[in-house]
Amino acid sequence: MKHIKTMPYYWICVLTLALFLPNVANAGEWTDFRFPREKQLTKDGYPTPLSGQPITKTPVIAKKKGITLKKYPEHYIPGKEKLGDNEMRVTVLGSGSPTPIRRAQATSGILVELGNGKNFIFDIGPGTAANLYSMGIHPALLDKVFVNHLHLDHVGGIFPLFDAMGWARNTPLLVWGPSGTTPELGTAAFTKHIRAAAEWHVQAKRDLLPTGGTTIIAHEIDISKFSPENPRQLAYDEDDVKIYAFPVVHSIDGSLGYRLEWKGLVFAYTADSEPSTFEAEQAKGADVFIHEVFPSAEGFAAHTKMPLEHAENALGEHTVPEELGLVFSIAKPGLGIGSHYTLGDVMIDDAFKSMAKTYDGPVMLAHDLSTINVTPEQIVVRQAKTNLLAAVPDPPVLEGVDMTPGKPSESNTADWLKKTVIEK
Ligand SMILES: [Zn+2]
Ligand SMILES: [Zn+2]
Repeated sequence: MKHIKTMPYYWICVLTLALFLPNVANAGEWTDFRFPREKQLTKDGYPTPLSGQPITKTPVIAKKKGITLKKYPEHYIPGKEKLGDNEMRVTVLGSGSPTPIRRAQATSGILVELGNGKNFIFDIGPGTAANLYSMGIHPALLDKVFVNHLHLDHVGGIFPLFDAMGWARNTPLLVWGPSGTTPELGTAAFTKHIRAAAEWHVQAKRDLLPTGGTTIIAHEIDISKFSPENPRQLAYDEDDVKIYAFPVVHSIDGSLGYRLEWKGLVFAYTADSEPSTFEAEQAKGADVFIHEVFPSAEGFAAHTKMPLEHAENALGEHTVPEELGLVFSIAKPGLGIGSHYTLGDVMIDDAFKSMAKTYDGPVMLAHDLSTINVTPEQIVVRQAKTNLLAAVPDPPVLEGVDMTPGKPSESNTADWLKKTVIEK
């Protein structure tokens, strides 16, 4: 009898242990902080920031009628999903406004991964590198960056990428960007000075680690060559991947938009720009078109606590949601995405209401780690669930990469101070 009476307690213990054990086993896999929010929907029924859902009412878009759509897990978990041969994955590394960066919203940055194993980074704003390194890709494979313009919210996060030199990336960092109207305004001047600013850092490491990664190579797109007759330039053409650059209206001598084409799939990114019919034409028919969107001057002033007059000045170089709808109505992308936006429940509802005045196609507001899978059949949006303590994946085998450390620096610690080092 005693045996029978204790059975339920035994099973309760076993079940409790069974429930607890996976947590113990996964103790090192701290999942992303973007998932704790209990409130799932805004007043108008859009997913809230931090709810774990992408901020759209059209997370699955069929590109053709009458086909069976592929089912994806609820969240994208890096390292757990191999891309198909004709599949593209676009991940938002930073969706926010520069003023200020928020824990849940880094500034501008996008990662595009292709089924052929090639990866492309578009903009590398402050705060984006940690999101990038949580995507389960070895840093040696993250060497191609296309910058739209040189505002710091688009390029200010380049140091952590450069800093993979030696320990992980032993080939040059490649940066494409605008030439500027004068050399000092160009991408080559920017990368030259970034490298110069890292001189102490490089000298301190170069006899310890391989030196192949200590170079930054700039590929400037000559903005003086654009014209109505020459609206785009081929910036990259390898492995069947073509990336075109085209000019957009933003600040002094402007910014670049990019259009990546591969196996019939198209990704377009214009980042910061005033709305124009030209950029909309260049992005026409893209599967995914990511364009900046800014709150109204009142909303921006309220968020930044900046005088309204200054907010109005800033807004003159950007695009509000109603204008974004107009751009999308010309470009007609498979999915139109507004990014560079301060997410908040009321602001989300306001943005979608305004966009709906001018456009009725599928739209979304980007959130950090929104992930979009594109195939010839469909477009699917989810939030990535990344590991807060992500480990570096195994390095790729790259042929012809010199792994020999370089010469020591001639600059050394003073002898008298070195003599005080405690013997190891
Ligand atoms: Zn800008
Ligand atoms: Zn910006």
